[in-house]
Amino acid sequence: MNIATHPFDALMEITARPPTVFVRGEGSYLWDDSGKRYLDFIQGWAVNCLGHSPPEVAEALAAQAKLLLTPSPAFYNGPSLRLAKALTEHSCFDQVFFANSGAEANEGAIKLARKYGALHRGGAYEIITFEGGFHGRTLATMSASGKKAFEPLFEPKVPGFPKAKLNDLGSVQRLISDKTVGVMLEPIQGEAGVWPATDQFLRELRALTREHGLLLISDEIQTGMGRTGKLFHYEHAGITPDIMTLGKGIGGGVPLAALLATDEASCFEHGDQGGTFNGNPLMCAAGLAVLAEVSKPDFLKSAADAGLFLESELQRISARHGLGEVRGRGLLLALDLKHPIGASIVAEALADGVLLNSPQPDALRFMPALNVTREEIALMIDCLDSILTRMGAARRVA
Ligand SMILES: *Cc1c(COP(=O)(O)O)cnc(C)c1O
Repeated sequence: MNIATHPFDALMEITARPPTVFVRGEGSYLWDDSGKRYLDFIQGWAVNCLGHSPPEVAEALAAQAKLLLTPSPAFYNGPSLRLAKALTEHSCFDQVFFANSGAEANEGAIKLARKYGALHRGGAYEIITFEGGFHGRTLATMSASGKKAFEPLFEPKVPGFPKAKLNDLGSVQRLISDKTVGVMLEPIQGEAGVWPATDQFLRELRALTREHGLLLISDEIQTGMGRTGKLFHYEHAGITPDIMTLGKGIGGGVPLAALLATDEASCFEHGDQGGTFNGNPLMCAAGLAVLAEVSKPDFLKSAADAGLFLESELQRISARHGLGEVRGRGLLLALDLKHPIGASIVAEALADGVLLNSPQPDALRFMPALNVTREEIALMIDCLDSILTRMGAARRVA
């Protein structure tokens, strides 16, 4: 790669990145600037639900770009009105606020819950969140997250986020006080390594929050938009949260996120919430194109089937190489490696032209496009199988 074409020194160094520069994407594949092709099982971090540069999204963006980029959030625009309506028609929610990132949508959810507490619960403001949870990188969403590595950072944290344990109702119960206004969770903890809340826990949590008059806030930024085989994860447990946030997949690759609330929970007044780019027609046009595709019953069915196929293939690989469990749902799955070999597998796969993610040293996470084919899954599995075989052989020699 050419340092003159790609000067690496002006971007802030915020994470370790391979010295690869990607220039093009199509479906499940990415190409770097040397022309090398990669099979992508990261997809922008569960973002590209229709794969790279899907024609539906590209065309919607091009058409909207020629028509109107933004009239200002002080005025209505067609795509945001239509997308808000479509999201409410496909979910249990009544009102939508659009944001530009998942963290911003979660900030909005936290503000909405605090507003609800101020209006209806005597100023209650605490939101119970979970150890291992991840809600974003703004100050409040880092404080709401239960990620160990965040603990020493950017003190003092935003107060008001006591932490419970996932799948332990008693740990939630013990934190409820007259200061509590809600409970917020990821139905599957993605960044922590794909740790699902059980459907039973979600149902018990819904009953508990109802009993205490608390808001249930579901962060579906990673699990929403068909990622788990249903349009929204809450449908699996048959519950209805009061507030939900969406991000990642909702824009199919562009920065779009949403805060959804029931009529009862939707209590912002003028001046409480806003933002320059929020609900801009360009991103909402992409969101409409994504939702039209992802909400098709056939699309969701084939994404769910692809998830089952990937899950069974991972189980086969796991048994063959003496690894651990396969966790998750739909096309958000993790393979427990039992040893801290995630980073070396990711590096070997990159060299072999397959993009994998290791959210924790002993786990791999799989988040391919929702329209990934069986053939593509089989190719990834073959690559993983041969890497594990090589590593196993190396371990036996050592
Ligand atoms: C990615 C993610 C976020 C943060 O979204 P950004 O768009 O990166 O701000 C929040 N919650 C969950 C569950 C996520 O997976």
